[in-house]
Amino acid sequence: MSNTEAHPQEIVAHDGGLPGPRSACADGAPVEIIESREVPLGGPRAMTVRRTLPQRQRSMIGAWCFVDHYGPDDVSTSGGMDVAPHPHTGLQTVSWLFEGAIDHIDSGGNVGLVLPGEMNLMTAGTGICHSEVSTAETTTLHGVQLWLALPDAVRNAIGRVFEHYAPEPVAFDGGSALVFLGSLLGAASPVDVHSPLVGAEIRLAPAATLVLDVDPGFEHGVLVDAGDITLEGVPVPRATIGYTGIGSARLRTRNEGTTDARLVLIGGAPFDEDIVMWWNFVGRDSDEIARFRQEWQDEGDRFGRVEGYVGLGGPGGLQRLPAPALPGLRLRPRQNRPPHVQG
Ligand code: MN
Repeated sequence: MSNTEAHPQEIVAHDGGLPGPRSACADGAPVEIIESREVPLGGPRAMTVRRTLPQRQRSMIGAWCFVDHYGPDDVSTSGGMDVAPHPHTGLQTVSWLFEGAIDHIDSGGNVGLVLPGEMNLMTAGTGICHSEVSTAETTTLHGVQLWLALPDAVRNAIGRVFEHYAPEPVAFDGGSALVFLGSLLGAASPVDVHSPLVGAEIRLAPAATLVLDVDPGFEHGVLVDAGDITLEGVPVPRATIGYTGIGSARLRTRNEGTTDARLVLIGGAPFDEDIVMWWNFVGRDSDEIARFRQEWQDEGDRFGRVEGYVGLGGPGGLQRLPAPALPGLRLRPRQNRPPHVQG
């Protein structure tokens, strides 16, 4: 997916001008609620996504630096997903669907079909471009798109990689989980990651409680897709993230409602490098971002080419997303708010 905001801003956590996060404390563990904002993805009928990361309140959870949540979206009214070829650097994209299907083509020569319950992980490294189009058979689109920032030590050493992994469900009393990255509930994803992290879809039956053993060195976020969820006793509304910080070896979540709940758990070791994130690029300083932008505009070799993209409007449509204009000021690194530490 692309960040298609017309005027993407770099995010600075401490700007002093916004109210602090809403926090609550129950059963000992403070939970910070990260609300979403609606962002149109672009295109003729402009499918809208709910973006929880990044924002001023908190820009990262571990290496997770971007969280878009969308649907369930009736494709006949929204127009579906049609993101023309666009570039990425310094990050990995995790595509995870609950419903629908998306055709992926990238400049590494990879053609993939993104299906519910199957992770597609694209590594940008020094540069890649890709297109994403919902399939003709898709009637409902529902899922998340997540980005992981790559550590500086590896971001320029990795080429264009595309990995697919369909985890086996892990059953527990009152629900099940699909662990797509890292380890949880005794399951471990075989997919290599470049910093310590975890990612999983969790389903909880009505009135079910789940107590997860987690790495106390990780900060965690629980994105609620459906259900009346509490995290450490604190209600986490739909389409928001409940953030718990570091220092806790257990996370307790409960479905308080009468319908099934679905969550996405993300977590990782606090990412201690300053990054600059603008449009679809992750870099380390303003000049580097400006170079990436210019190379994309110049159709440079850094990003390669997508072969075979046909948008929902048919052949002859936009063949690459143009980069927005850079802001007049230099982009500053994002200073993430320090993680909460549980007592
Ligand atoms: Mn993308």
